[in-house]
Amino acid sequence: MPAGCKTVTVPQEAPRSFGAPDGWVFDTDGVITRTAEVHRSAWAATFDGFLAGEDPAQRPFSDEDYLAHVDGRPRYDGVAAFLTSRGIHLPTGSPDDAPGARTVCGLGNAKNRAFMAVLARDGVEAYPSTVDLVRHLRAMGVAVAAVSASRNQAAVLGAAGLEDAFDVRVDGLTAERRGLAGKPDPAIFLEAAHLLGLPPGRVAVVEDARSGVEAGRRGGFAPVIGVDRHGQAAELRSAGADVVVDDLSRLEVGADRWVRAVGAAPSGPAVQGAS
Ligand SMILES: [Mg+2]
Repeated sequence: MPAGCKTVTVPQEAPRSFGAPDGWVFDTDGVITRTAEVHRSAWAATFDGFLAGEDPAQRPFSDEDYLAHVDGRPRYDGVAAFLTSRGIHLPTGSPDDAPGARTVCGLGNAKNRAFMAVLARDGVEAYPSTVDLVRHLRAMGVAVAAVSASRNQAAVLGAAGLEDAFDVRVDGLTAERRGLAGKPDPAIFLEAAHLLGLPPGRVAVVEDARSGVEAGRRGGFAPVIGVDRHGQAAELRSAGADVVVDDLSRLEVGADRWVRAVGAAPSGPAVQGAS
């Protein structure tokens, strides 16, 4: 052994099992597609522009604001929650308000315009490990659904080439039509389970947002799988995730449909990276 080197024992954890669900529900932004980043920058551009005109003393929109107030929430709910956190109250307005109008809906519409501009310019990237898992499940005859609080889900999945990858899709438009509450209410997940024809206890939920993990837990889904994209493993776990992984390549689904996670400790930090 060269001088200065030492032997390091890497603990090898046995794979842990998390049930054998008959169906899976995947959150879209941040689990299937890399759009959480696009949403975050569209929110930042919208809110920073608004705050600069409203009250220049306000600090800029941050990653913490994104996670705490808008991630996973319906668009206008996210606007209202963020503004409330800054002590700003605007009239709700109407979904027909011009983007940038001084209302909750106007700001939400401005964010959507910014999001769609980035989508058109840059396209959308899917997470390869998620696509692999979805294909694997479907090949085994396991039903899969894609769920999103966003009204842009069809555009996002289409831009990623995944328009036919799921048996069931539930998006913000469906939610609005059917009067389904946003996460952390489990309504849109329950709708997906209903459309899959399965009780929630037989369906896995995969989520990257605290509000989504909470919704999965409240809805009685099993297992609830947290995907830690932003170093928030502890938060996802405290929201009720049965297991938190940094990427879905950490999950194995056997021919018996049993889900096994390799390398993620039940109460320790999520495994980060591949080493
Ligand atoms: Mg998400």
